[in-house]
Amino acid sequence: MEMTGLQIFKYLPGAKKTEKANCKECGCPTCMAYALKLAKQNIELSKCPYINDELKEKYLHSIKHPQKTIEIKGLKIGGENVLHRHEKTFLNRTTLAIIIDCTNPDYQHIIKRINEFEIKGVNELFHIDLIILKNFNNNKPLVSNVPFITFEEFENYKFIKIYDKDFNQTKTQLIEIRKKAILEKDEKYSDPVCVFMNKQDDTYSSCAKASYYICKYANMIVFENFDEAMFSTIVRLRENIYTDPQKPLQVESNLYEFNNPDKNSIVFLTTNFALTFFAVANELENLPVPSFLIVIPAEGMSVLTAWSAEKFTAQIVANTLKNLDIRNRLNTRTIIIPGLLSHTIEELTEAVPDFKFVVGTNEASAIKDFVKNLQL
Ligand code: SF4
Repeated sequence: MEMTGLQIFKYLPGAKKTEKANCKECGCPTCMAYALKLAKQNIELSKCPYINDELKEKYLHSIKHPQKTIEIKGLKIGGENVLHRHEKTFLNRTTLAIIIDCTNPDYQHIIKRINEFEIKGVNELFHIDLIILKNFNNNKPLVSNVPFITFEEFENYKFIKIYDKDFNQTKTQLIEIRKKAILEKDEKYSDPVCVFMNKQDDTYSSCAKASYYICKYANMIVFENFDEAMFSTIVRLRENIYTDPQKPLQVESNLYEFNNPDKNSIVFLTTNFALTFFAVANELENLPVPSFLIVIPAEGMSVLTAWSAEKFTAQIVANTLKNLDIRNRLNTRTIIIPGLLSHTIEELTEAVPDFKFVVGTNEASAIKDFVKNLQL
């Protein structure tokens, strides 16, 4: 674990109230300021000439990177710093790779299926990360959008390899290796971990096991079978584990269309918090009438949070309408705002006088009934 500013401060002259306390030789106004900077690694240890050996050793150990990073074809594998995602974040998604044996007469077809596999995320499209080719004949050119390497090339990378035979055994190994790497910073366990799935497992079993290994703590998983349904499941799971818990999931600020609207269709407005967006979008998709949804950039905050943090203001709404060129793109001049923001109507009308704002529902699930009774 990295040291906090307070932990560092305890060792400094400022805390010990010795002669050099707050001497400013490091360029900081106080020892505490230096400690806080050092904790964030924004200043060098050597800037303070009065650091004792104990602090030096503890600090250098605390900033030592616990797990190495391997880079294959632009994919970063490993490099994790924490045991649990909520402590900070996981950095590099578990790489999902598939081994293809080119002596298999069907191998080109499998590669084609892998290339066609695509999962739509919140703001991203996901694919299989890597293909590893066994018995690859260089004379036969391979067309693939998914990056690929030969098995021989892959063997040159230094992973801790686990060949999955028994679930409990693999699980225990993964947890122990990660603990040794992160908590003890033990060099012997600092290489990223690659699990080779058992080819004999059926799809359900592979899916369940791989799901666990993604959570704890495989840096890479290599499969010998490709099944679209299984990968749809584990890619989705992986995306939930590898989001940054400190950053709310957000969608792009934009004008979204539902059921082929024309310029006169009804228009809703909300913030760019992903959960809010998908809740509203789901309702709009299922309405019997076409509609638009204007999404305000609110740093991924939900409606009321955005308002209280001043990320949903009349000015931001006015700017968004301008940036999205709503006046030219739509004839509709009425915008339905979330019910929770009813108190902003006056402000909105003042900032955007050529639009009429109508208070919608507090909950997305009530939109259907609201639209039935809507008279604009
Ligand atoms: Fe404190 Fe900075 Fe002086 Fe060191 S150099 S004793 S940290 S003020």
